[in-house]
Amino acid sequence: MAGERVKKHLEAIAVGLAHLARRPMTLRYPEVYEVGENVRGVILFDMAKCIGCSLCAQICPARAIKMYRLPGVRTPRPGIDYTRCIFCGFCVDICPTGALYHGDTADMIIEDPSEAVLTPIEWDEFKPRPWAEGKGRPVRAVPDEEVGLKYEPVGDRSSPDRHGDERGGGSGGDSG
Ligand code: SF4
Ligand code: SF4
Repeated sequence: MAGERVKKHLEAIAVGLAHLARRPMTLRYPEVYEVGENVRGVILFDMAKCIGCSLCAQICPARAIKMYRLPGVRTPRPGIDYTRCIFCGFCVDICPTGALYHGDTADMIIEDPSEAVLTPIEWDEFKPRPWAEGKGRPVRAVPDEEVGLKYEPVGDRSSPDRHGDERGGGSGGDSG
């Protein structure tokens, strides 16, 4: 029994030692951040295009959209509770005017839950930034035979003009 236990410990140590020499399988977030393609990002609202039909609120399966009466506006306008939104995109699909659309951010951080509930005016003005943007290098995940996934830099989005400088970076950009 004791011999079996020692054997298992030695096996575990051997596995650990073997991995010391291998490329890392993970990245320290947010040294890099992923720029996805075909990502259904955070739902954004352009009030200038909204006709107040309420279809978005009716179709939302998470009850994340609530219609508000605004002074001087005949039909109601939608607001959102981001704590309920599941990014399904139904509201975007059904909106007849394109007033709702997906932003390119999917890793938005909201520190205070009360800030996640937006009135129509607040939603219209809301311009989220990814948590990691400006702190790391933008990358795209690509399949890799050796490690499953690896990250490759996204050229035009990594320019100093876009981010000001190239802070972070670390081990990212070549492993996943
Ligand atoms: S993406 Fe889905 S859950 Fe989120 S507001 Fe639109 S319909 Fe509701
Ligand atoms: S579906 Fe589009 S046009 Fe209709 S209320 Fe919602 S945002 Fe406005």
